[in-house]
Amino acid sequence: MPITGTHIAYLHTCHRKLWLFANGIQMEHTSDIVAEGKLIGETSYQDRSVKYTELEIDGIKIDFYDAKNKVIHEVKKSDKVEHAHFAQVKYYLYILIKNGISEASAIIEYPKLRQRQIVEWEMEDLLTVEGWIALTKQIIHQDNCPDLINKPFCKKCSYYDFCYANEENLLPL
Ligand code: SF4
Repeated sequence: MPITGTHIAYLHTCHRKLWLFANGIQMEHTSDIVAEGKLIGETSYQDRSVKYTELEIDGIKIDFYDAKNKVIHEVKKSDKVEHAHFAQVKYYLYILIKNGISEASAIIEYPKLRQRQIVEWEMEDLLTVEGWIALTKQIIHQDNCPDLINKPFCKKCSYYDFCYANEENLLPL
């Protein structure tokens, strides 16, 4: 199974979420939050689909790639800048390098925040990203689902009902 940007983002969010997603328990399509995110992506950046190309390579899918300037544009629905978003686009940059596209960069767009974050590839990222890949594989191939993490953001997670159905005494703070 190829490692995708979603796997890397979940690695930095919750190992349980990563394991559930990678082992075929997918609830994203039923999540209103995700649906809202897709809508933001589609409506805010409609005109961009003409200017930018979609790039699918080694299991990753970049919706808006500016091939001329070698810039990835990643749109996030979130109202918060998160480390997982940086990790995801660093992984995209890693895959581009592995496929002979060097000196690319990325811009993460936050329409709700009216902000953008520029992400550049650094020399030391190579070892870091390869470490993430190894850890991702280790987690998704382990026999048991990791423990739930009981964090406030669990309430916004698409696996919330799945994780907390039998955990009346362990509701997130
Ligand atoms: S609800 Fe919380 S513990 Fe369960 S997968 Fe989501 S983030 Fe992880």
